[in-house]
Amino acid sequence: MNKRTNVIVVGAGPAGCAVARAYAMAGRSVVLLEAEPEGKSRKRFAGEWLHPQGVDALKKLGFGSITSMQGRPRGRGFVVYPGHGESPVKLDYVQGQLGLAFHHGDLVDEMRQMVATTDGVTFRHGVRVASVDDEGVVLEGGERLEAGIVVGADGRSSVVRRSLRGATSHKPMSAMTGILLEGVKAPYPDYGHVFLGKPSFLLGYEIAPSVVRICVDVPLKYKAEMKDPEWLIAATRETLPPVWRQPCEQQIRGGHLRWQANHFLARADYGNGQRVLIGDAAGHTHPLTATGITNGLVDAIELVETANFQAFAKSRRRACRVPELLSRALYDCFSKEDAFSNSLRRAVVSLWRSDEKERERTMGLLMGNGRSFLTFAGPFLRALLGAWRGRDKSTTVGADIASIASWIRLPMAYAMAGWVRPKA
Ligand SMILES: Cc1cc2nc3c(=O)[nH]c(=O)nc-3n(C[C@H](O)[C@H](O)[C@H](O)COP(=O)(O)OP(=O)(O)OC[C@H]3O[C@@H](n4cnc5c(N)ncnc54)[C@H](O)[C@@H]3O)c2cc1C
Repeated sequence: MNKRTNVIVVGAGPAGCAVARAYAMAGRSVVLLEAEPEGKSRKRFAGEWLHPQGVDALKKLGFGSITSMQGRPRGRGFVVYPGHGESPVKLDYVQGQLGLAFHHGDLVDEMRQMVATTDGVTFRHGVRVASVDDEGVVLEGGERLEAGIVVGADGRSSVVRRSLRGATSHKPMSAMTGILLEGVKAPYPDYGHVFLGKPSFLLGYEIAPSVVRICVDVPLKYKAEMKDPEWLIAATRETLPPVWRQPCEQQIRGGHLRWQANHFLARADYGNGQRVLIGDAAGHTHPLTATGITNGLVDAIELVETANFQAFAKSRRRACRVPELLSRALYDCFSKEDAFSNSLRRAVVSLWRSDEKERERTMGLLMGNGRSFLTFAGPFLRALLGAWRGRDKSTTVGADIASIASWIRLPMAYAMAGWVRPKA
């Protein structure tokens, strides 16, 4: 016999827990389906930094005990180390707002525990959705469940998205390994650290008192080398601050690494109204700018608060376009190795160092405070100009122009994409 409810949510990651809670608080009956058995989330290596907008969303959904937990590191912004011994540049969140850092597994476990005891939510662990249509889902094993709305909060390989669009390909960007250092402090507590170097960049921040997470980004062209611990140690040695080097080497030699692939899928498609996509299922980008969890939480709130699905999709497309473009551009800027891109990297850091307004603007854009494409285009052109003036004269003008052309293609594609709508 078919079982009917108001809403089925596929996936109990941050976005799924948030939307299940939001619907239940609005008086709807919700079935939340999660493929992982209970307790498995501890092993995850994924998002561990939340922007202030995400902290507000957690509070609004009644997850305030997560944000106020004693000892949980606050996030005041980012510190960028340009390398070559240059002093770091600090980018603070605007108006003293605070983000949050945590172990990903802790966040997911705490959200799951709270949503499981929320009136109106039936939470089923260890059940995988095999297929989806406009009326409901079929679980592996054949059980059918029906609902007015199916929300796909099932992450990057979403079965709900596949049911709508087939096997849409997301673009591989890089690999990332996570390393935990215990008993060490961050040079700037309460800040996310971005260390620029070769072959790419490293991220580091405290996720609990004296517990530091290091994320090493490895461009895909090094996929053979990255399996060799000695290569990884050499790649991180020059870039990491001295106090983290030895514990990091020990963790790498001991094999205590968690690898993840990073992909890109533009946030353009939120489903058809009966099957709705939120969180990573709607789109995802490189974790450098730490927008994934915040996006999923805000999707959840807006979906439930916005009566009309088309209005929800339009609002989210507009809000995510500039932060996504900024994230893509910063990733390329920090990881490309050609001479002009190196010059662009220096120009961006120098812009931040010398101009407080640019620092504020970057942090504001990251948090979705600029919806117009022009808010990105102005500083981008300024950085390109700075890079041209400071370019390394030992390379040919032809090579620099080819690099500039590749740099201009990305924002152009976004400017055009603003006019393209996915099919309902
Ligand atoms: C290395 C790395 C670092 C990151 N760092 C950050 C960061 O610092 N800050 C940030 O905001 N973001 C970061 N992100 C991104 C962030 O982790 C994701 O955006 C976020 O976890 C997405 O949440 P979600 O709920 O949409 O999906 P997920 O967290 O992927 O959850 C999806 C859930 O759906 C379940 N599921 C999947 N398929 C099915 C099915 N068929 N049936 C039932 N259940 C199913 C899965 O088991 C899972 O529990 C990072 C990502 C990576 C890989």
